[in-house]
Amino acid sequence: MTTFLDYNLSNDLMKSLKNLKFHKPTEIQEKTIPIALNHNDVLASAETGSGKTAAYLIPLIQKITLAPNTYGIILVPTRELAKQVADVGISLKGYKSKILITQVVGGASLNNQVTQLKKSPKIIIGTPGRINDLLLRKSLSLKNFNFLVLDEADRMLDMGFEDQVEKILRFLPKKRQTLLFSATIPDRIKTLSKKYLISPHRVEVKENNVLKTQITQKVIQTTQEKKYDELLDEITGRHGSILIFVRTKYLTEKLKKRLKQDTVKSLALHGDLRQNRRNRVIEDFKKSKYRILIATDIASRGLDIPHIEHVINYDMPQVPEDYIHRIGRTARAGSIGEAVSFVSPRDAKMWKIIEKLLDKTKNPDKKFTEEKIEKKPKENRFKKRRRNSRKYYKASKK
Ligand code: AMP
Repeated sequence: MTTFLDYNLSNDLMKSLKNLKFHKPTEIQEKTIPIALNHNDVLASAETGSGKTAAYLIPLIQKITLAPNTYGIILVPTRELAKQVADVGISLKGYKSKILITQVVGGASLNNQVTQLKKSPKIIIGTPGRINDLLLRKSLSLKNFNFLVLDEADRMLDMGFEDQVEKILRFLPKKRQTLLFSATIPDRIKTLSKKYLISPHRVEVKENNVLKTQITQKVIQTTQEKKYDELLDEITGRHGSILIFVRTKYLTEKLKKRLKQDTVKSLALHGDLRQNRRNRVIEDFKKSKYRILIATDIASRGLDIPHIEHVINYDMPQVPEDYIHRIGRTARAGSIGEAVSFVSPRDAKMWKIIEKLLDKTKNPDKKFTEEKIEKKPKENRFKKRRRNSRKYYKASKK
């Protein structure tokens, strides 16, 4: 059995791993850390939830400790993921360590980031847009950054960051080490890897496929008109925190208002919120101040909120792969979770595509149960709404 002792890590790192209760490396860590410590490039397929963040941060921090001329830049698709990676970085390096970690993301004060960059951080974690901004303003120089991580690379490309990423890569030294992590490895990622990685070691982690954890998936056949009442039913009938996915930013706010009218308090998370607000929403949900978070797909990847018991797909995702990322928000770290999808006639086509995708990822030993729920007999909407409100009120009083 491999343990962290096998990697000859610094005392500080070993202490942090102990504090974090990381007793042994996860599969992605076991496969990536030795290669990365050996200065090789890595092309890894790994999902959020596999422990990929520590798989690249442990070697980076170890290298910075051993060779002070090591500087690492980590490109991530979203601000939330940047914060999460920075948090993991801070806990891994240890609070007393002098290694400076800076986040460079949109939606936050540019001046503050420029001030932070002047302190020559060893690790920069950022989103492509803001990093490019700072490069163009010459507030950021990457000429010493010899360790690059492209995290959730497929997501970055899906979000249209391809040009931005390539522009950033031109500012980096040719002599560097590059680690690319991606949930999927489509042709565009292969092309990127051929262009920017040098003889990368291919790392694959099948064991941590999110579908292998215990996620019970339910499908509710419904109509657009009945969806909301069905949602109230689901909310009242469930214990624990719920992440509800909707299609657009506007719909997150609209659903939040509608639920409020039915005495159900919730939070909305979407890309139009200012960064401070987004952070606060996530914190409030993490601290269980609210039980319900309504989000667009921006929240479907990367977020590590360990206590989500239920994911409700109120609307289907626009990209089928996002379904897997959405439901991966529940049942983290081997726990049990439930995903419910509302499928109205207008979603039927997308649901078929998702089912095909699930079939492709299915394999014999995964615990995957799908329960089709029969249509219920029609009930007077207003009567039902009142009944649900009362039920929710009683439940929240308990
Ligand atoms: P990630 O895929 O990096 O988002 O990590 C998913 C979760 O796994 C996070 O909650 C980490 O704290 C946790 N984790 C990462 N590495 C380990 C490990 N070696 N042992 C236990 N938990 C871990």
